[in-house]
Amino acid sequence: MKSFVTGAAGFIGSHLTAALLNAGHEVVGLDDLSTGRLENLTTVAGHPGFRLVEGSILDRDLVDELTTGADRVFHFAAAVGSFVIRDRTLESLRTNIHGTENVVEAAHRNSARILVASTSEIYGKNDKVGLREDDDRIVGSPLRSRWSYAEAKAIDESLLDAYVRERGLWAVIARLFNTVGPRQTGRYGMVIPRFVRQALAGEPLTVFGTGEQVRCFCHVHDVIPALTTLIETDQACGRAVNLGSSEQVSIGELARRVIRLTGSASEIKRLSYLEVLGSGYEDLMRRVPDCALAGDLVGFKATRTLDDILRAVIDEQANRGGDAVASPVPVVARTAATGS
Ligand code: UDP
Repeated sequence: MKSFVTGAAGFIGSHLTAALLNAGHEVVGLDDLSTGRLENLTTVAGHPGFRLVEGSILDRDLVDELTTGADRVFHFAAAVGSFVIRDRTLESLRTNIHGTENVVEAAHRNSARILVASTSEIYGKNDKVGLREDDDRIVGSPLRSRWSYAEAKAIDESLLDAYVRERGLWAVIARLFNTVGPRQTGRYGMVIPRFVRQALAGEPLTVFGTGEQVRCFCHVHDVIPALTTLIETDQACGRAVNLGSSEQVSIGELARRVIRLTGSASEIKRLSYLEVLGSGYEDLMRRVPDCALAGDLVGFKATRTLDDILRAVIDEQANRGGDAVASPVPVVARTAATGS
């Protein structure tokens, strides 16, 4: 089996690449190394079945070339993270809309099955406990940049739905709810690697807003097998599928837990959304998935607890001396797509 993974050097993409190689796939990865890191691919570097190409999903010809001969396409390249969306809204919209269109078109042209990473942001401010895939989206003004990520991903989902119904594409959408774990960096806003880095450095943990907002964090190792199985599951075609944990935690409690587990002397510092994220941001107060569909389709169940996740992230950061993204990312030359 030949797989093409966009965003292969990213947090989820790199874990997925390793799993596919372990399962005997040949993998071509594409990454522009904007937020992805070559260090994420250390465990697969030199694997005879793996090739990484540095380039953008906005490069239509390159995407088409790399998709040629692929049986499976996993689309994980995207602009993500609240700081990225705040600072580079226009570029993020282009990447997340036009880039996805290129990848989807290429999968269709090459008759490959495609799995596209979507997001729980799709549900916006809908705070129902147990969000189901057909629940309504409640999003704020499109003039608030926070929602531009959800808008772009919603367009991606509609595009896929139309390709499936009108063009016969085989596609499945994975809606990921706060996937976390080793290799995720806090540099672009993600809360767990940020809190862990702050606690280990003895800095204040920065809680945005009241700290009463609730999330469910899911270990990347629970998510990866569901992704590789979903794309092989005939009944998943044309579906959007939630993947996440149902263990709720408020962000204030998360900060206290990180302090306890690290034994840190850090304090908690509350910051207003306006001062950290600007006027284009508004938060959502609760986001909890119902993953019954993923359970039915692929037997998905999040087995790792929040404490398991925190221990894994603390171990990783403690062993490598902080959030690794603080170190410079080595740059590779863009590999010729048809090279050896
Ligand atoms: N957050 C925080 N401090 C930080 C980073 C994030 O309080 O240093 C909050 C953020 O405002 C949100 C929650 O933590 O309420 C989760 O943020 P993240 O960006 O990880 O994921 P989101 O659920 O917002 O996509």
